Amino acid sequence: MARIQVRNPRNGQFDYSFEADSTEAVQATAEAARRAQVDWFGKGLEHRIRVLKAWAAALETHTPALAQALDADTARSRISHEEIGAVVYFIHGFCEAAPEVLAQPFKKFKNNADVVFKTTYIPYQVVGVISPWNFPMVLSFIDAIPALVAGATVLVKPSEVTPRFVDPLLASIAEVPELEGVINIVRGGPEVGQAVIANSDAIVFTGSIPTGRKIAVAAAQAFIPAFLELGGKDPAVVLAGSDLPRAATSILRSALYNSGQVCYAIERVYVDEKVHDAFVEELIRQAGTLRRSLAAHDGGHYGPFIFEKQGAIVQRQIEDAVAKGARVLTGGQLETVDGAVWMDPTIVVDVGHNMALMTEETFGPVVPVMKFKTEDEAAALANDTPYGLSGAVFGPDTHTAGDFATRMFAGGVSINDTELPRGMQFEGEKTAFKMSGMGGSRYGSTSILRYVRKRALIANEGAVKPLNVLEEA
Ligand code: NAD
Repeated sequence: MARIQVRNPRNGQFDYSFEADSTEAVQATAEAARRAQVDWFGKGLEHRIRVLKAWAAALETHTPALAQALDADTARSRISHEEIGAVVYFIHGFCEAAPEVLAQPFKKFKNNADVVFKTTYIPYQVVGVISPWNFPMVLSFIDAIPALVAGATVLVKPSEVTPRFVDPLLASIAEVPELEGVINIVRGGPEVGQAVIANSDAIVFTGSIPTGRKIAVAAAQAFIPAFLELGGKDPAVVLAGSDLPRAATSILRSALYNSGQVCYAIERVYVDEKVHDAFVEELIRQAGTLRRSLAAHDGGHYGPFIFEKQGAIVQRQIEDAVAKGARVLTGGQLETVDGAVWMDPTIVVDVGHNMALMTEETFGPVVPVMKFKTEDEAAALANDTPYGLSGAVFGPDTHTAGDFATRMFAGGVSINDTELPRGMQFEGEKTAFKMSGMGGSRYGSTSILRYVRKRALIANEGAVKPLNVLEEA
């Protein structure tokens, strides 16, 4: 067993540690989960809904401790509360949707009225969940909840970079005895992740594309389905005639939310050359109103990097862009203050697709802005990427921007705003395009059906076919 040291992003101190689970321990937990699943599913949907709602109430009671732990790992207070609220919201949302989604009425075959059939949903027994560090709690449960509603038990491995919320989380689970063996948490790094795959019947992974590929390979070898929610390089396109202050606010809000450490953050902006200079001026003005958050609840707008190494990646991308002719108008410098690694809102112009800043995931508070001449050129630039998570379009009206939105190859496109297709819009189903993921929508009620197999029960209520059907004609 290895002890893992955890860094506090506000001061750079390694002030928390935990014991990683051994492969044997993960296996034993999975076996217990598989045993618990029989009752969890067998007791029916109403039971599951009642128990999950009891857990939602327990989460609300434990909010102060959960928020404090999340804050210590991620250096942000408001978003930590939002994460807990989102998990409660998803529990209620999926519980409400489940009875209709999982309904299993008998139907008659169209070509034979004597034969009735019923499609029954048989959940995977143990669904493994592997999650990243940027939203430690919500990304550990956004997929676990529909799996639980479907009747699976879950084996969740949060990121080893941000594990502190696990202690108060376990306290909330312990308050609901029916969850024993149903919600299971294992802790550790990549090795524990691999053990989760080896012991699960389906796997959901949220994280980077390189790791996603390893997960997909391991899942293929084990012949289990893998649902992958991967990275993004979301574009925003600003057409001529757009409300520029609105576009600037919306783009900046997206790029700076969680200091840009968000898969669906706007990471590149294409602006009609006719309005480019005015847009950039407005962007700089608004960026000047934002300030660092130095402590919880201090009214600041953005925190330091959660994961120290991410700062270095962002810095390298900016240096590469500058070496190729880009100009940094604000921010752009990595600064370590009292152990915390900061970058202020960074606006970069004169960028191109020869720069990593415009083609690779950045995951930092950076807004690179590029001019375009025609809408065809803007569409080509927006789609010139291996990613296809989401994007945004701004135009003079919904109709014009909406027309452009249909040209974007991404799973969700916001019109005259950003980030509309994110998780809190429960109903909006969307799938990742290209390398941003695979395996159906995690949002919307049908996400529950990702965690079941279908068994057809077919009954003939008429006469059986006579033996003479075997005769050669
Ligand atoms: P990561 O891929 O490094 O790690 C994610 C998880 O995988 C961690 O729990 C880690 O321990 C585990 N892991 C690492 N290697 C493994 C292996 N070989 N086998 C099994 N498990 C392994 O991702 P990260 O750096 O924690 O998170 C940032 C990434 O997540 C970004 O690329 C971001 O875009 C992506 N992300 C995607 C979404 C989405 O919904 N599409 C949401 C948030 C973050």
